[in-house]
Amino acid sequence: MSRQQHRATVSQPEETVTHTSSREKMNLPVLSSILLVISTVHAFQYTDLVQYIDSHQEEYVEALREWVAVESDSSNVLKRPDLHRMMEMAAQKLRLMGGTVELVDIGEQELPDGQTLALPKVVTAQFGNDSSKHTVCVYGHVDVQPAKLEDGWATDPYNLTDINGNLYGRGASDNKAPVLAWIHAVEAYQALNMELPVNVKFVIEGMEETGSNGLDAMILAQRDTFFSDVDYIIISDCSWLSRRPALTYGTRGNCYFFAEVEGPKQDLHSGVYGGTVIEPMTDLIGILARGSEAALQLGYSFSPHGQNNLSYATPS
Ligand SMILES: [Zn+2]
Repeated sequence: MSRQQHRATVSQPEETVTHTSSREKMNLPVLSSILLVISTVHAFQYTDLVQYIDSHQEEYVEALREWVAVESDSSNVLKRPDLHRMMEMAAQKLRLMGGTVELVDIGEQELPDGQTLALPKVVTAQFGNDSSKHTVCVYGHVDVQPAKLEDGWATDPYNLTDINGNLYGRGASDNKAPVLAWIHAVEAYQALNMELPVNVKFVIEGMEETGSNGLDAMILAQRDTFFSDVDYIIISDCSWLSRRPALTYGTRGNCYFFAEVEGPKQDLHSGVYGGTVIEPMTDLIGILARGSEAALQLGYSFSPHGQNNLSYATPS
């Protein structure tokens, strides 16, 4: 993306965020791990920051509760107004912190029936513009996958619920809490009047769960502007292998293909044409089977439903 390309991913457990009861010493591992990442850049007053975080964690949980309550399901067109509101909430939080914030219009999405629908705008934000410092860009998303009680949730998915110190809610860990954790890390520096050791940028999207429509074009379009000075990209959107914070240092992506097989324009009687005309379904199955074999040989998983397993690597 610029002169140096590095990727680091701070991961989180699936859909739960750990914190302890208010009487105990609180533990916000996501935020702490973020501070540890930043701490590698410059020495800083770690103790002050940790104390600040400990004393504000109820506010952090409340902020997460507000965000989880928004049904920002990017796969459901009926929820698109909620998704737009979610992007505005993220932008507003960053604006209130004094960031240089933009809601970038990334155009429209074409639906299968031919209708078009406005894509949720992408939020970009910048804190600090010191050319002597490195610039870290944090990527995150605030859309979610569908969730209903009938799907097997033990609690209302859009009502953040604390069970034994674990917070349950749709998007709690994927990916609203990590986004908030990074924002709150910057906020903690500001509150303590501590200079950020790096310039921090945010790019927050709302279509990750359905294929990040429009994001690649937006990044390319801003390659020489917003992203031109970015030295490090941090993707905070993976899983932990345990309850301990993990720094994911390698990720794999998805590769999509569209296969369409055309057949005869009318039904053909099997007694007359069977064996001489190969059915489109048979051809399609053959294509998928060959694709699966090739993918497996390359070490990738393959799914005709378009949901490949993302794998990640974390230090042991
Ligand atoms: Zn995610």
